[in-house]
Amino acid sequence: MIKTKGYATHDSNAKFAEWEFERRDVGPHDILIDIEYAGICHSDIHTARGEWDAMMPTMYPLVPGHEIVGRVSQIGNAVTKFKVGDVAGIGCFVDSCRECTPCVDGFEQFCYKGAAYTYSGTYMDRETPTYGGYSDKYVVDENYALKVTSDGDLAGVAPLMCAGITTYSPLRRFGVGPGQNVGIVGLGGLGHMAVKLAVAMGANVTVFSTSPSKEEDAKKLGAHNFVVTSDPENLTPLTGTFNFILDTVSADHDVNMYIGLLGIRGTMVVVGVPPNPNVIHSFGLIFGNKTLAGSLIGGIAETQEMLDFCAEHNIKSDVEVIKPDYIETAYDRTVKADVRYRFVIDMKNA
Ligand code: NAP
Ligand code: ZN
Ligand code: ZN
Repeated sequence: MIKTKGYATHDSNAKFAEWEFERRDVGPHDILIDIEYAGICHSDIHTARGEWDAMMPTMYPLVPGHEIVGRVSQIGNAVTKFKVGDVAGIGCFVDSCRECTPCVDGFEQFCYKGAAYTYSGTYMDRETPTYGGYSDKYVVDENYALKVTSDGDLAGVAPLMCAGITTYSPLRRFGVGPGQNVGIVGLGGLGHMAVKLAVAMGANVTVFSTSPSKEEDAKKLGAHNFVVTSDPENLTPLTGTFNFILDTVSADHDVNMYIGLLGIRGTMVVVGVPPNPNVIHSFGLIFGNKTLAGSLIGGIAETQEMLDFCAEHNIKSDVEVIKPDYIETAYDRTVKADVRYRFVIDMKNA
């Protein structure tokens, strides 16, 4: 077994402290990654604070982190995709059954047997708990690791493993491209990646935000328009003008006002997971044959496609790099929408 240093919380108070645990030895198909950076996704916060307990109870001790990037330091004797020294990433899951229809079709996140999620889950033996990337090492089957070819600083690459794929996948699925009006709701970790990706795909992008102070940033990220949503009057002139809207908001809010902004046959995709259910007004959807959809991360092949797209278009996340002793403050600041635009923990020097 491999001794690993992590940062864990033991209950929903989400107080993090150093905690030692063991990873499995490197098997024939495994790689050992020395983690350099781990992003803080809002899902880490929902999970650590037990906010999703009604649907998915948190398993403590919890070592969160599913935006992982690092260097391969050991490989099993059957590994073909990686060599020692390569840069590798891990996203939201680390194994699945590999046989069911979703697994074969590249939707491993929906494995019928239940994918092995990177933390707060179990491996496929359904006994061994998984611990995430707020740690110095991860042992993973090479088929569930991603190849990173981006140049330079790796801190901005870590958030691609969740924020990147979660926004790339629905943009691709609904064919976002030139000539389309695209709205991104919430300019946080997911939202700022969505802006960069939709702009790179050629769309005309509008950001909907509760934070007026983010307007200048939104424009720097490539957005063409910025709308402050705290005054609903600001949305009225845009009624019926959008082909596609992606809602990344983490807190309870009214989605009906965005459905009203869709044009005929427009699509709104929800990726944010606020704690409480939303009430949808049917009239808003049926007048205009509109689509309301959801999306959960992406499979391994599509995640690799997204990483290659980002390397080609020089897209990384805008990050604030922190030390592990800042995790709790980073959580509080993220909840207050006070992050530009992703906290990333420096695990290399932890
Ligand atoms: P984040 O960085 O905290 O960004 C969320 C943004 O939502 C904030 O920056 C803020 O943007 C906006 N917001 C916050 N409170 C709001 C409120 N009360 N009303 C309206 N807008 C508000 O979070 P994230 O990491 O991007 O994650 C966003 C959500 O997606 C979370 O619920 C997370 O669990 C979920 N998620 C889903 C998937 C998936 O596969 N579906 C994957 C990853 C994460 P402004 O300041 O611009 O208003
Ligand atoms: Zn995430
Ligand atoms: Zn499966």
